[in-house]
Amino acid sequence: MTKALVLGGGLSGLAAAYTLTKNEISSLLLERDETLGGLASSYLIDGSYVPKTYHHVMYGDAATLKIIRDLNLEKDLYWRKLKVGFYSKNKFYDFSSSISILKFKPISMWGRVKFGLLVLRARRKSNWQELDGVNVEDYCLKTTGKEAYKLINYIVQAKFAEPSNNVSAAWLMSRFGHESKSVSDQFGYLKGGIEQIIQGLAVRCAKKGTIKTNAKVTRINVKRGKVDKVEYEENGQIKEVEPNIVISTLPVPVLLKVAEDLPDEYRRSLENIRYKASLCAAVGLSRRVSPFYWLNVMDLDRHPFVGVFEHGHLNTELKYPSVMFVVKYLNSTDSFWQKPDQEIIEEFLSHLNEVFDCDVKEHLLWWRLHRAEYSTPLFTPNYSKFMPETKSPVEGLYVGGISQTYPRDRYMGTALQTGMAVAEKVLAEYRT
Ligand SMILES: Cc1cc2nc3c(=O)[nH]c(=O)nc-3n(C[C@H](O)[C@H](O)[C@H](O)COP(=O)(O)OP(=O)(O)OC[C@H]3O[C@@H](n4cnc5c(N)ncnc54)[C@H](O)[C@@H]3O)c2cc1C
Repeated sequence: MTKALVLGGGLSGLAAAYTLTKNEISSLLLERDETLGGLASSYLIDGSYVPKTYHHVMYGDAATLKIIRDLNLEKDLYWRKLKVGFYSKNKFYDFSSSISILKFKPISMWGRVKFGLLVLRARRKSNWQELDGVNVEDYCLKTTGKEAYKLINYIVQAKFAEPSNNVSAAWLMSRFGHESKSVSDQFGYLKGGIEQIIQGLAVRCAKKGTIKTNAKVTRINVKRGKVDKVEYEENGQIKEVEPNIVISTLPVPVLLKVAEDLPDEYRRSLENIRYKASLCAAVGLSRRVSPFYWLNVMDLDRHPFVGVFEHGHLNTELKYPSVMFVVKYLNSTDSFWQKPDQEIIEEFLSHLNEVFDCDVKEHLLWWRLHRAEYSTPLFTPNYSKFMPETKSPVEGLYVGGISQTYPRDRYMGTALQTGMAVAEKVLAEYRT
C-alpha cells in the first residue's frame, strides 16, 4: 500500500514530496500533464529550457533561494539589474527607482507622493491580516485619494482583471510591503533555466518515491469521513491507490470536482474560492524589441495584454536574441479565452507593433501560447475565512498550494512554502 500520495506536480506538490523524502517517507506523486512544474514549467526549444510563462527569482524570495541552495544550484544563480517600466498613452515611463517613480507623469505629483507613502506604510510591517475584510478601493480612496488610486487600480486590474472593490486590501498591502521589497530592480535567473529547480526536486523525490506524469486524478473517494481510494487515469486506463495520507496541491475547483463526497460545510466554504486564468504568449525574436525587462501596459481598454517581459535582458543563454512574454489575466469564461491560439497570437503581435512602433512579426522566430485556467486564486475581501487549512476535516486529506499563500501573493517561494508546510504537518502528526 502507498503510504503518502501527493496530487499535483507543480512547485507545491514537488516541495511536499521532497520534504517527505528528506524525512525518509516514500510518496507517489501524480501529475496530469506530460511535464512537471505546473505554472513554473518550461518548453524545450532548440535544446534549451524556456519558461512557459516569464519567470524570474525575486530578490527577497527566501524560500526559493533556500531550495536553490539545497539543490546545489547556487553556482548557476545570477542576478541582473533590469529596467521596469510603464506604457501609457503612447509613452514609456521608467519605474525602476524612487526618483523615476517621482517623475511618473500618468498621475499627478501629489498622487505619486501619496503612492510612495502607501508603499512605505506597507513596508512597516509584514502582517496585514487586519485588512482582511477591507477592499482595495475603499482603503485606498480613504488613505491615498483618487490620483494614487488610479495607479493602484491599474495594478489590481492587471493582476486579477477584477474591480478593486472585490480584492482584499490585506493582499495589496502585503504585496507592497513584503513583496515590493522582493521585487527590487534585481531579478534572478538560473543557468539552465527555472527547469533546473523542477528537475532537481524531481530527482530527489524519485530517490525515495515515484513520480508519474500523464496521470490525471479523477476521483478521491471519501468513506465515513476518511480518505478511502484515489483513482487516476494513466494511458487511457483508470488505476486505483489506497493511500493513508493524501496531500492535494490541486487547484481548489479541481479538488472539488474530484472529491465529490467532501463534508457539506467544507465544500461550501471552498466553493467561495474563485481562480483567475492567464494567457501567456512566448515569442522567440531575432532582435530585442523592448528597452525594459518588465513593461506594464496601462491602457487596458486599448491593448489586449497587461505586461510584456523581454527575457533577452535576463536570460543570458538564449540561442537567439530574445524571448518576449506577453501576458493577460482574465476569466476562463471570457470570449477572449475562447479564441483559437493563432488568433490570440495575431492580436498580441499587432498590438506589440503598435506599442513598440516596429514590425515585431518580421523578427518572429517561433511562438507558443500557454493557457492556465487556474493561474491565481482571487483574493477577495475576507478570503481568510474560507482559505483551506493544511489539515482538512476529512481524515487523511491535507491541502497545500497557491490557495493558501494569502495575504501574500502567489509566487515560486510562497508555493514552495505551502508544499513544505503541508508535508511538515503530515510528518508531525504521523510521528506522534
Ligand atoms: C504568468 C505567470 C507568471 C509567473 N511569474 C513568476 C515569476 O516571475 N516569479 C515567481 O516567483 N513566480 C511566478 N509565478 C508564480 C509561480 O509560477 C506559482 O506561484 C507556482 O508555480 C505555483 O505552484 P503550485 O504547485 O502551487 O501550482 P501549480 O503550478 O498550478 O500546480 C498544480 C499542479 O496540479 C496539476 N493538476 C491539475 N489537475 C490535476 C489532476 N486532475 N490530476 C493531477 N494533477 C493535476 C497541474 O497540472 C499542476 O502541475 C508566475 C505565475 C504565472 C501564472
